[in-house]
Amino acid sequence: MYKPDTKGTKMQPPHPDIAEVVLTPGQIEEIVQALGARITQDYEDTQPLLVCILKGASPFMSDLMRSIALDIDIDFMSVSSYGNATTTSGTVKILKDLDTPIKDRDVIIVEDIVDSGLTLARLTAELAKREPRSIEIATFLLKDVQAPRKVDIKPRYAGFTIDNRFVVGFGLDYAEKYRNLPYVGVLKREVYENNK
Ligand code: 5GP
Repeated sequence: MYKPDTKGTKMQPPHPDIAEVVLTPGQIEEIVQALGARITQDYEDTQPLLVCILKGASPFMSDLMRSIALDIDIDFMSVSSYGNATTTSGTVKILKDLDTPIKDRDVIIVEDIVDSGLTLARLTAELAKREPRSIEIATFLLKDVQAPRKVDIKPRYAGFTIDNRFVVGFGLDYAEKYRNLPYVGVLKREVYENNK
């Protein structure tokens, strides 16, 4: 049986559906620690509210909040984007809203990956209506898209830039699977071709 090794950069063979490991558990840990240290420095005079976007960002949120040496609050949100898929004119449907009011708070949206940036652009606009003192984005991964993004989204905190391939693991899924892999990897082509 496949046994994940979450202790460091040395890993057992990855899941049989994975073609290539992009980030090992050890590398993930280093990336998240570095982000946590930056947030600790930048927010030393305040008590930020970390907003985890479910479900993909949950492992990142869990590691990130433990690497921040400040008093923080946490909350969770679940959204789905609809409307025109290529413009910002659509909106986000809030499936689960925050429990916490964010007026005058310093909000950090915690996301797994920014690809087109559309979801986050819309969500940020929605949350801005609630008059927080500030809103920033912390994303674990940033897709290195060739063309300029259609939306102007610049996460203040981005852990790692990956090339434009579909990755899974560390919260990221394919059809709800692979979220629990302790590393980030590229799926074998036959896995998604068989599912067409
Ligand atoms: P965006 O609105 O930035 O285009 O899309 C962001 C969302 O698309 C992410 O929250 C994630 O759910 C999904 N996504 C984008 N790229 C990938 C990827 O490489 N792998 C997985 N598993 N999901 C992705």
